[in-house]
Amino acid sequence: MISKLKLACSSLCILSAVTANAAAADTRSEIQFPDIPGYKTIVADFHTHTVFSDGFVWPTVRIDEAWREGIDAIAITDHIEYQPHKEYVSDDHNASYNVALPTARRKNIMLIKGTEITRDTPPGHFNAVFIKDVDPIDTPKFMDAVETAIDQGGFVFWNHPAWKGTKKGRWKRVHHRLHKKKWIGGIEVLNGAVYYPKAHKWCLKKGLAMLGNSDYHAPSMLHHSETGDHRALTLVFVKEFTQDGVKEALNDARTAAWGQNRMIGRKEHLGPLFDASIEVFPAHYSDEKDLWVEIKNNSHLTYKLKRTGDKGPGTITLSADARVIVRVENVSGNADITLEYEVENVLIGPKEALPVALTIPR
Ligand SMILES: [Zn+2]
Ligand SMILES: [Zn+2]
Repeated sequence: MISKLKLACSSLCILSAVTANAAAADTRSEIQFPDIPGYKTIVADFHTHTVFSDGFVWPTVRIDEAWREGIDAIAITDHIEYQPHKEYVSDDHNASYNVALPTARRKNIMLIKGTEITRDTPPGHFNAVFIKDVDPIDTPKFMDAVETAIDQGGFVFWNHPAWKGTKKGRWKRVHHRLHKKKWIGGIEVLNGAVYYPKAHKWCLKKGLAMLGNSDYHAPSMLHHSETGDHRALTLVFVKEFTQDGVKEALNDARTAAWGQNRMIGRKEHLGPLFDASIEVFPAHYSDEKDLWVEIKNNSHLTYKLKRTGDKGPGTITLSADARVIVRVENVSGNADITLEYEVENVLIGPKEALPVALTIPR
């Protein structure tokens, strides 16, 4: 009797395990952004935490989330100086990378080795990515820590610059020293839901990479209420999708930050990205004075256009991964028609929208 019950239970358990597995199929939601001339577009998150510092997930969970959310590359950047769980988990600085790596290989996610050098503001928090070993970066002097990361071939960027307020988060002498030594390669213009316009300006002026990162501590799903349907991410325009290729693109500042249906970057990248995203078809219908045209958006960003020229509707919303019909009034002649707009949610400078032209072939 007992054994029969046991048997029933074990087959039931096996059955439910199989069902759970089937339900938890490893489905990846794709993030669609087109490549731009000369470069492949990839999406990365260079700033996340796990239980090995002040995060609340095991490192492999970060990889599972990255796969499911359509992210190509991720860095786990646990704090060196702040490990509140160390009474219960190891304080080995390299542990989160080592634990996550086998899962990253199986899930085809590029795992970039990183850490967060965590000092009071100023200088503030800095991420070092593409490093080899976190242990030697654990040194008392801030500049020594950065130098060690650089010596390992690391790329160092300034995190959430104004998180302690704009006064503390100014570009100070220490940042100037880092920049002069070429030890700072970028700044987070976007950290979670927060955009830092000053950082955007500094990046443009000083030739630094703009980064958009999640800085997730809790499981990704718990953050989604703050950040919308996806986390803050960095688009990287790479020559080749390898660790060296991503690092080369960061060093050449070929990046843009994407979050909350806003893209922050440089005109030289975001202009081509818009052009590669949008298809304008020949007018499919016209009467004596108006015409109707289809415009397709092959990207994951909904572009919000405001007219700057004299033709076309006052505003056009080009929804992500979708097609719209636009009516253009008072059209005459047979020449191509160019509609001039600016994209309000694509910023090429603080408060500076990307100018674009939509040409309707005739
Ligand atoms: Zn931080
Ligand atoms: Zn952080």
